[in-house]
Amino acid sequence: MTIDMQSRENCAVCGRPLVYGTEEVTKLCDFCGKECPALIYCPEGHYICDTCHSSAALDILREVLNSTNSADPTAILEKVMSHPSVPMHGPEHHAMVPAIIVAAVKNAGYPVPEGAVEKTIERGSKVPGGWCGSHGVCGAAIGVGTAVSVLTGATPLTGRARSLANEATVFALGRMLDDGPRCCKRASRTAIEAAVEFLKTRMDIHLDLNEKVKCHYTTRNRECIKEACPYYDSTSV
Ligand SMILES: [Zn+2]
Ligand SMILES: [Zn+2]
Repeated sequence: MTIDMQSRENCAVCGRPLVYGTEEVTKLCDFCGKECPALIYCPEGHYICDTCHSSAALDILREVLNSTNSADPTAILEKVMSHPSVPMHGPEHHAMVPAIIVAAVKNAGYPVPEGAVEKTIERGSKVPGGWCGSHGVCGAAIGVGTAVSVLTGATPLTGRARSLANEATVFALGRMLDDGPRCCKRASRTAIEAAVEFLKTRMDIHLDLNEKVKCHYTTRNRECIKEACPYYDSTSV
C-alpha cells in the first residue's frame, strides 16, 4: 500500500476525494485494523481511523510544543500546521487547539497544572472528525473549552469552572458561524483568536497575538470560501 502524505486532504491511500456521509457505515482501518463506525471514508473503500489519521500530526505537535518558548498561540499554530505531516483537515486540529493555548499560557509565565499540555492532547484527540457537521459543534471550538477546563481544573461537579469552560466553547463557536463548509485551518485560527480574547477578558491571562494571518492553504482546500474567509489571501493563488 502506498501512502501519499501530500494528498491527505483526499484519501491518503488513493487520493480520491473523501465521502462525507450522513449515515454511519462500519469500516476497517487500513492501518490498525480496528473496526469503526465511519461518516468520512474513501469511495474506493479505504478508511483510516481518527487515531491513525492523527498520529503523525500529534507527534509534530508535541515536538513543536517541547521546543518553543513562544507565548503567541497563533504563531505556534501556524508552525504546527505548516508541517507536511499535518493534513489539511482532520481531528488532529481538535487536539492542536487546546494544547497550543495551554502551552502559550505556560510560556507567558502563568502557572498551569502539572501535565496540562499532555492532558489537553489526550482530551482533544477524543473529539472525532466531522463533529461540526454531525453534532453541531466544531471540535476546534471544543478545544477552547477544553483548554479552559484544564487550566481551571473544571469537572462536571465544579460550578464556576465548568460554566466558564462551556462559555469558552460558546464564545469560540459563535465566531465560526460563517455559512461555509468546514475548513480546519479557518476554524483553528478562529478558535485561537477567540481564546486569546476570552482569556484576556474573562480570566485576566494576557497572551501575544500576531497580526492577522494570511492563508496559503487555499489551493489545498477544495471547499475554500475564498473572499468570505477572514484569512484569504488572493495573492497566494
Ligand atoms: Zn482511497
Ligand atoms: Zn487505525
